[in-house]
Amino acid sequence: MLPETLLFAAPGSLGPTLAAALFGLLIGSFLNVVIYRVPKMMQRESDNYVAHESGKELPHTERFNLMVPRSACPHCGHQITALENIPVISYLALRGKCSNCKAPISARYPAIEAATGALSALLVWHFGSGWAGLATLVFGYLLLAMTFIDLDTQLLPDDLTYPLLWLGLLVNLNGTFVPLHEAVIGAAAGYLALWSIYWLFKLATGKEGMGYGDFKLLAALGAWLGWTMLPTIILLSSVVGALVGIALIALAKHGRGKPMPFGPYLAAAGLIALLFGAPIAAFTQTLIH
Ligand SMILES: [Zn+2]
Repeated sequence: MLPETLLFAAPGSLGPTLAAALFGLLIGSFLNVVIYRVPKMMQRESDNYVAHESGKELPHTERFNLMVPRSACPHCGHQITALENIPVISYLALRGKCSNCKAPISARYPAIEAATGALSALLVWHFGSGWAGLATLVFGYLLLAMTFIDLDTQLLPDDLTYPLLWLGLLVNLNGTFVPLHEAVIGAAAGYLALWSIYWLFKLATGKEGMGYGDFKLLAALGAWLGWTMLPTIILLSSVVGALVGIALIALAKHGRGKPMPFGPYLAAAGLIALLFGAPIAAFTQTLIH
């Protein structure tokens, strides 16, 4: 198969969809690194800043980024070889254990790889492998990374939300998904919508219901999908959030009082709106009228 036949294919093409699945597995492996390291990189940066401001010795001087140091077993320090780093397959071949010390490896790693592969296939099947389809892959990858970082740390890093916002505006310069003016208004209105809810909630209850990262994430979704999609996104995120919340309380996995991150629901709603926003919006319209 020639690369030309894989790129710029129409929606519903099998070859590009399979290629996207394989590509997605590899990206999923990289997203595991992003999810694990970006919060740690932010923490180190802030530790160093605090130390620098107070004239103390910097606590972190060794290099630590997405490439350096190489991935290693957190238990024994065994460096992961290329053969042990094949998405999903290595995990199965190693039966979920470190090849050196046999400490268990979290099943989340292969799960994220498989999810990234499946999402990539779905997006290329739906949008084709032209510029729009490739843009949706970047959209999906950033949302996946943010979902798990938010679940782990209750934070949505600016390093991810802002690039998603700028990319959404750029991708719509020529109206790829929505006209540019809808994208610009979407970004501003998305931020303002959650900012207003945040302040109303805070004035009413004295508590903080969500983080500033959530405002930026909805701004980014507005930039990609336009302001007209914002009500659908907020509705979808509430529905997904309520369903997951009920399930978790039913399974007694989550205390009622414990705060739950909102980012994963916004991210899920953004993906659903990207794929099925138009029919969902049309359906809600018929309910209102
Ligand atoms: Zn080990």
